[in-house]
Amino acid sequence: MIVVFLGPPAIGKGTQARRIARERGLSVISTGDKLREAVAQGTDVGQEAKKFIDQGQLVPDEVVVRIVTDSLRSINGNGVILDGFPRTLSQAESLETHLEKEAGLDGVLHFEAPTEMLIGRASGRRICRNCQEIYHLEFRPPRSEGVCDACGQETLYQRTDDQEEAVRRRLEGDQLTTQKLVDFYQERGLLARVAADRDVDSIAKDVSLWVEGLS
Ligand code: AMP
Repeated sequence: MIVVFLGPPAIGKGTQARRIARERGLSVISTGDKLREAVAQGTDVGQEAKKFIDQGQLVPDEVVVRIVTDSLRSINGNGVILDGFPRTLSQAESLETHLEKEAGLDGVLHFEAPTEMLIGRASGRRICRNCQEIYHLEFRPPRSEGVCDACGQETLYQRTDDQEEAVRRRLEGDQLTTQKLVDFYQERGLLARVAADRDVDSIAKDVSLWVEGLS
């Protein structure tokens, strides 16, 4: 099974992807996580990507497409959730071409919420540098400040692109491209929607039902 979680930054796709993946033994490919990892390791890809990420801009298509196709080749098991990819029409077309020889995508879930809510979500978000677990200071605080509940390391940090100005830029750029992706997947009969302006458990229930319906 290969599914895509689509939606603006900080809407909670990553949290939901990790949760449903744990429940059902799926893998998650998050292009954001992979790029941050490359930046932290200082690889060529990381150095190239950093300029774009810090500005709240999209990393060039060919870079992310390569990351995803390489990751898809090395994954086996029950299936994969693509989180944060595709983000442009060109990425969606590349993915379609890549999957042509296989069964193709099973479904695309569009996470929807009012834009104003996302600024607050992003500014309160904290990530674990060690295991990428996602927290929110208000909605999902760690048990102990700065310490990851999942791996026990004192490695929680705020992403530079989660600061307000960068989030606004990311959201502005995102609206137009997301709509194009919604149309693209709707035409192919793959699109479903979930209201993401609710508590994490209610959204998780709907996500779980949707995934169950695909299997
Ligand atoms: P995310 O963790 O999904 O919010 O992604 C963080 C940043 O990584 C984005 O603001 C982009 O700069 C970059 N990025 C992640 N996924 C993609 C993608 N599919 N296409 C282009 N840039 C991406």
